Amino acid sequence: MNKIALMGECMFELSSVKDGLLKQSIGGDVYNTAVYLKRVFPSVDAGLFTCVGHDSISDSMLEQFNAEGLNNSLINQSDNLIPGAYLINTDDEGERTFVYWRDNSAARQVMKNMTHAQAKNLEDVDMFFFSGISLAILPEEDLSAFFELVTKLKSAGCKIVFDPNYRARLWQTPAKAKQAFEQSFELSDLLLPGVDDFKQLYQLETGQQIQAFLASYSIDEVVIKDGPQMVTCIKGSQTYNIEITPVNHVVDTTSAGDSFNGVYLGARLSGMTIEESVKLAAQAAAIVIQYSGAIVPKQSFTLSRPAA
Ligand code: ADP
Repeated sequence: MNKIALMGECMFELSSVKDGLLKQSIGGDVYNTAVYLKRVFPSVDAGLFTCVGHDSISDSMLEQFNAEGLNNSLINQSDNLIPGAYLINTDDEGERTFVYWRDNSAARQVMKNMTHAQAKNLEDVDMFFFSGISLAILPEEDLSAFFELVTKLKSAGCKIVFDPNYRARLWQTPAKAKQAFEQSFELSDLLLPGVDDFKQLYQLETGQQIQAFLASYSIDEVVIKDGPQMVTCIKGSQTYNIEITPVNHVVDTTSAGDSFNGVYLGARLSGMTIEESVKLAAQAAAIVIQYSGAIVPKQSFTLSRPAA
């Protein structure tokens, strides 16, 4: 098992540095996940299932995906749309605020622009990952085509992985988010939620309450993240509580969950146990939160797969 498709949006990132200067980069939850997966597990074949444009930003995104070792064969290109973008402002206290331009981004049209080649290249994936953000950006009329695709992949033996990553402002109403999430829970083999997702949407506060809520779905493996608190994993009748070593000087928690997910999935695809995978994923997230921004420079992120 070593091919994974990750469905979502990569955006053009601008962050204010100082004196009105802006630094440019790219980012997005699913892209961040793919990058960390590939950095720690270079032998896993990982590619984004997304849509970009034919513009210069899209060209540099595709180059950056290549530079991170991602497989670009699952990407389609829109003739008239360009990638979404966001601006990160950091105030004097270090508090970050985000402004987005993504309503009309190419990535939203990934289902409408799907090509035969892309569908063919999806046929042999072992794992398919998507998040609540991937769902939120799809036009409502494309959700059924998306769930049909996921159902088809699942029946062909592909493992379906979902991280709810709930962002209230991306949904018209909480009810719409719940409906899409519950369809995703039905299809998921592996779920990677944060306690916060359930707190906001279902008013569930603890790993135990979430476990009880999910009992009505037949999800094979659930890994519940909770910041520096322990990670709760449920596999069949087994529950594992894995302690996290808190980081003392957190710089920026952006991408903590994404890096955790990427490394966890790479580890599971590579045959590591749940406990080994959580420990390695937590090490990755602990590095990421000690740097500013979602993607740590390559030379500073030296975590690698432990020798067998
Ligand atoms: P999300 O980004 O989805 O909100 P969490 O905040 O739950 O994700 O964090 C994901 C993972 O990042 C945690 O399971 C943990 O491994 C790691 N992590 C987050 N905050 C800390 C912290 N303060 N100290 C150490 N590890 C942390």
